[in-house]
Parts: sequence; structure tokens; C-alpha cells
Amino acid sequence: MLSVGPSSLPPTEGTAPGAGVWREDAACRGIESSVFFSPDGERGQARARREERARRICEDCPVLSRCRDHALATGEPYGIWGGMTETDRRRHARRLRRGEYRPLTPRHARPESGGTGDAAPGT
Ligand code: SF4
Repeated sequence: MLSVGPSSLPPTEGTAPGAGVWREDAACRGIESSVFFSPDGERGQARARREERARRICEDCPVLSRCRDHALATGEPYGIWGGMTETDRRRHARRLRRGEYRPLTPRHARPESGGTGDAAPGT
């Protein structure tokens, strides 16, 4: 398991100058990766509480959009990236494949009703 959150992962956006530099401004720098990545066997309320804590950190992150875009573009299978859980990302990808485009909110606000949070702002 990684010792800190997504900001510590190696850049995978290519070798262009500045690639992956956004991680230096991440709000999760120095935070244990166990906040963002599910431990083996985690379920139910324990998982919901951990994900809520991670989403709150992401909400105030200045590089949320870069992080979320990276996770969606690279198909990150695990963890919370840009305020999205792996389930959020799978649902988003499924909707895109079906041609159901729903723009993600700029700050990917936490869903109020257990949805994915990718509804249009104000909906
Ligand atoms: S959006 Fe969340 S996971 Fe991504 S860098 Fe910011 S705090 Fe870390």
C-alpha cells in the first residue's frame, strides 16, 4: 500500500515538460493513502465514511479537475481521484459509451442523494 494519497503517485501523463506537476499542489499531499484507497475487505458504512472523508479533501483541492481528468483518461481502476470513486468513474464511462453525456461539475460536488455527482450544475 502506498504511504500517501494520489498526489504521490508517479506522473503517468507522458514525458512532456510539466506533465504530472499538478500533483505538487494536491490537497492530499501527505495524507495517508488509506483515505483514498479501500483496504481489503472494506464494506458498508466503513467504506462510506472513508469515501466521504476523501471527497471532503478533494472538494477544496486546487487541482481537482486535473486529477479527475487524469483518472478518467487513464482508466484508474482504484481509489478516489478528483472526488470520484471507482464506482463513479465506471458509471461515468458507461454513460459515455451509451452516448449519455452529462457534464461533470467543475468541482465535482459530493452527491446529495447517493448519485455519482456528475449531474449538471444546479440539477
Ligand atoms: S482531487 Fe483529491 S485525490 Fe486528486 S489530487 Fe486533489 S485531493 Fe488528491
